[in-house]
Amino acid sequence: MNPRNALNFSGGPGALPETVLQQLSEALIREPVTGLSVLGISHRSKWFAEVVDELEANILGLLGIQRGYQVLFLQGGATQQFSMIPMTLLRGVSAPAEYLQTGYWSQKAIPEARREGPVRVLWNGQPEQYQRLPQAYELASAPDAPYLHYASNETVEGMQFQYVPGLDSVPRICDMSSDFLSRPCPAERYALIYAHAQKNIGPAGVTVVLLRDEIIERVPDNLPGFLDYRAQANARSNFNTPPVFAIYTMLLVTRWLKQDIGSLSAMDQINQQKAQRVYAQLDASNGFYRGRARREDRSLMNVSFNLATPELEQQFLRSAEAAGLSGLGGHRSVGGLRASLYNAVTLAAVDTLVSFMADFAHQHRH
Ligand code: PLP
Repeated sequence: MNPRNALNFSGGPGALPETVLQQLSEALIREPVTGLSVLGISHRSKWFAEVVDELEANILGLLGIQRGYQVLFLQGGATQQFSMIPMTLLRGVSAPAEYLQTGYWSQKAIPEARREGPVRVLWNGQPEQYQRLPQAYELASAPDAPYLHYASNETVEGMQFQYVPGLDSVPRICDMSSDFLSRPCPAERYALIYAHAQKNIGPAGVTVVLLRDEIIERVPDNLPGFLDYRAQANARSNFNTPPVFAIYTMLLVTRWLKQDIGSLSAMDQINQQKAQRVYAQLDASNGFYRGRARREDRSLMNVSFNLATPELEQQFLRSAEAAGLSGLGGHRSVGGLRASLYNAVTLAAVDTLVSFMADFAHQHRH
């Protein structure tokens, strides 16, 4: 046990549950089923095929999906999905795909889509410095759009959708990299959901793609095999050497969600309490801590905030490190401060953070 891990509020990679770290540390020497180091087990083994099967079943089970979807475990991060999606659904199509530009990460997806076909930015929050998300009535989606793409949680700015945007008749595609499996989600309203592992569900190196069977049927014939959802699905996430360790870690995290936490609703309740405690500290500070996002759009995963000056923010970070709290710096694109409260962060860790924040405000308020 390393107590500093519990107080890691990093935006990415997020921390893993202590019990999972413990199991991993044992599996590095001896994975319990095979008796081998997990780093030395073949990706062509029966063991690994069973890991993939159980992991897929756990994800579908947690999301409450019965049929009609496949789960792929791919490499290339969420960034590769920015390209694979339009390669699959936008090549040679004349109606524009719709994108919501709500922050740093959803913005990154747009130029990649434009390489493949026409894009219409349905809503752009940049002129308002990405401090709010659109309201449902502000989104005029075209019924014949090939798809709508958005990010459910903007990791940098700390904003999270509290509703499902778009028309149900238009295939809905969502980057859930920073809030996947952190709360229940009506997965059947999505054509495709993707999430890299390194926030809530594992280490970098693997990206989950949950997609409807009919998306697989629409893959064009001329894509490179590695970028072809059909080829990846046929290979059962074993098209080339997969990141076995990262996938195994994800399996342990989904077991933890099922067995220790119970369900995504239970996870959500804990996450709500965590976020509520940090935002309450911001709101009670009389402007000492300044939340970045509009109140209604606040993220449960990433609390982005500022202090009066960059110097004071640096002092906050130094004092936090000295108190054993890590990862509180904001993303390099916006600076400031950010407390990420991914699934593995406990309520006790949040209480430690909140009391540190209260003390710091007390000492530095003029
Ligand atoms: N989308 C979101 C919401 C993210 O937070 C990030 C990175 O943090 C990305 C995409 C990019 O992910 P990757 O580095 O795995 O390509």
